[in-house]
Amino acid sequence: MKLSYITGMSFDLVLFGGTGDLAWRKLMPALFQAFRHGTLPKDGRIVGVARDDLTDDAYRALIHERFDQVDLAKRPTPGEFERFAQHLHFLRMDLSKPQDFQRLAQWLGPRNADVVVMYLAVGPSLFTVACEQLAAAGLNRPNTRLVLEKPLGHDLASNRSINETVRRAFSERQIFRIDHYLGKPSVQNLFALRFGNALFEPLWRRDTISHIEITIAEDFGVEKRGTFYDTTGALRDMVQNHALQLLCALAMEPPINAHADAIRDEKLKVLRSLKRWTPADLAQHAVRGQYGAGVANGEQVPAYRDEPGVDPASRTETFVALRAEIANWRWAGVPFYIRTGKRLAARDAHIVVNFRPAPHAIFNSPPGTVNRLVIELQPRDGLQLHLLAQGQENRRATQNLAPVHLDLDFEHRFGSERVGAYERLLLDVIDGRLNLFVRSDEQEEAWRWVEPVLEHWQAEESNGPRPYAAGTWGPSAASAMIARDGHSWSEEL
Ligand code: NAP
Repeated sequence: MKLSYITGMSFDLVLFGGTGDLAWRKLMPALFQAFRHGTLPKDGRIVGVARDDLTDDAYRALIHERFDQVDLAKRPTPGEFERFAQHLHFLRMDLSKPQDFQRLAQWLGPRNADVVVMYLAVGPSLFTVACEQLAAAGLNRPNTRLVLEKPLGHDLASNRSINETVRRAFSERQIFRIDHYLGKPSVQNLFALRFGNALFEPLWRRDTISHIEITIAEDFGVEKRGTFYDTTGALRDMVQNHALQLLCALAMEPPINAHADAIRDEKLKVLRSLKRWTPADLAQHAVRGQYGAGVANGEQVPAYRDEPGVDPASRTETFVALRAEIANWRWAGVPFYIRTGKRLAARDAHIVVNFRPAPHAIFNSPPGTVNRLVIELQPRDGLQLHLLAQGQENRRATQNLAPVHLDLDFEHRFGSERVGAYERLLLDVIDGRLNLFVRSDEQEEAWRWVEPVLEHWQAEESNGPRPYAAGTWGPSAASAMIARDGHSWSEEL
């Protein structure tokens, strides 16, 4: 699929944090893919910014070297890199020094590109100063777009404070808050399925859907981010943003049109409709865990508390399972189970929409089989409908049904190379499409739902997170939580 883009436009993309992990692991490969696919406007400059003292050539060499760690199919050939590298530049800046923003203004100045993107791939402690200084240097013109990475704050108050400062320098329509899960092809496909076809709409409600699971499982630990993670935890890192955005995509009403605010208004209504849990509810509906030593991917791995940068007495959760309910006519009584964690049994992010069983069985169907819509997010992107069909195993029996998985990606129709999440989102920023970005009121509402959970855990500090062995699916309390409703996680079926 080729994205539309404005041919002939010029852009400057200032990548603050241009030497950081996010830049070389996600952003540069995504920009390169757009370049390879011919969707990156040709008249564009990408300028990496950091405190290192690098020439343009040294920066290009650094990025080239880092491509060795990217999937083989996504690495540039030497010729391709040479052409891509013509877009790359480097500017040494310290974001805490106002005079450095004047140098940026001079660097950008004479060209006056049609679109200027300021991508803040730096720690959130630098967001406020960066926005203030961009404004002071006159770099917040109407053609400027500001991209903010997560985390946007630590709680509701800090989130509000960042958003208020940012909005003093930029208007809301210039601000692109990234949640890369919204850029995933299968989430796009979910929107297409729900709002481009009338078929599912009558089924998309409490009468037909029994429960929904959202799982974002990682098999790796905190890696080099121990210090950051230990002050954050799974609830802030994954639930407040990614998991709740996925929940919105599943539960929102059809928007009145495909414009950004129409979509965001509907997502906001979902967040506002989330049932607020009391401490007594949370004792049943929230489970936190922390990984101990174990075996992951065939290797012995250390406990969370023994990871570099982590407090040896840490009570930070590396696993969360939550039960959510949406108090509106469409969803009342349908549980949404959210689960995320590190060092789990697999790297596997998926959503399962479980439909209610047939009201009366006339065929011999395998026990426990129901219709499901499975949205795979990681490691594969995909959409599958699980149905029952006439089995062929026993040629004499006509009433034995077998489960079949109908692929709704239509790869054979559209080709298998899809636009990756960051590629898609970066092109949307350049083209000025806000549909897949998060508005500040959505973020605030998500914090309002998450904060009572944090407060509840703080209040019962003596309990702490439940231990689980690395390489498993988390504490057994997560299975008990869903089993209380008579359900089980998809891998337990
Ligand atoms: P990182 O590897 O630590 O990189 C930070 C970058 O910021 C480096 O290029 C660093 O270069 C630059 N920097 C730091 N202080 C600076 C200053 N005062 N002035 C100018 N540049 C400065 O961090 P990261 O993992 O890329 O993460 C960046 C942001 O994205 C964080 O907010 C993170 O939470 C978020 N994020 C990261 C990921 C990921 O996969 N890594 C995913 C989602 C969100 P110098 O030190 O040389 O200046």
